[in-house]
Amino acid sequence: MDPAAIAPHQVQRCRVVLLDVDNTLYHPDTGLLAHVDTHITRYVAAVLGQPEDEANRTRVAYTREFGTTLGGLIARDGVDPSDYHRAIYDLDVRDHVTTRPALKAMLARLRVPAAVLTNADRHYARRVLDALGIRDQIWHVIDIESAGYRGKPRLGFYVAAAQALGLRPDECLLVEDTPRNIAAARALGMPAVYARWGRKQSPTDLPGPAIDDIIELESVVPDLFGPAPGDNEAIA
Ligand SMILES: [Mg+2]
Repeated sequence: MDPAAIAPHQVQRCRVVLLDVDNTLYHPDTGLLAHVDTHITRYVAAVLGQPEDEANRTRVAYTREFGTTLGGLIARDGVDPSDYHRAIYDLDVRDHVTTRPALKAMLARLRVPAAVLTNADRHYARRVLDALGIRDQIWHVIDIESAGYRGKPRLGFYVAAAQALGLRPDECLLVEDTPRNIAAARALGMPAVYARWGRKQSPTDLPGPAIDDIIELESVVPDLFGPAPGDNEAIA
């Protein structure tokens, strides 16, 4: 089988496409996630009374141990997640992200529903979906709160997300920009496509299907797509 393709039996089983949000639905160069990232470091520095370089080391350590910075802040420092989310998402998403007609058109042609699986909180995720103009095309938003703040790459989050949709992990297809989150999905039998935005893909660290932009999803799973809205009328 072509290592850059999803196996036909996996495509046949697919009942939903799970979309990561940050740096998957929009290009990293928009600077949105970088802006949020700055807020996270400042928040950690303020709450823990650390200089920013030390706060960055804390973030790395928490992410390694708890999956996310927030996971560590809750477990170690008793941080209130709503306070954290209020602080880090205190920005205007529309300063960075605008409507993407090509993304909307791609989603319109998907034969299965699309849902969101994100380590962000659902309020922020919906603001991003609104800014992109695709909120009405997203069936469900599964966020970090529904995971008890233990998000990707914890396997339990993927299993719970599939269950919340009435599905098994192998009935979902993930599109995601973070290699370790992709590896976790695949370990569960959930096929995953790497949205790499031009980053080099090393065959040794992340083999498998990859696209440079989410709007190219059809190139790796053509059978999940139907004709464009208008095409049927032309045939009729
Ligand atoms: Mg991401």
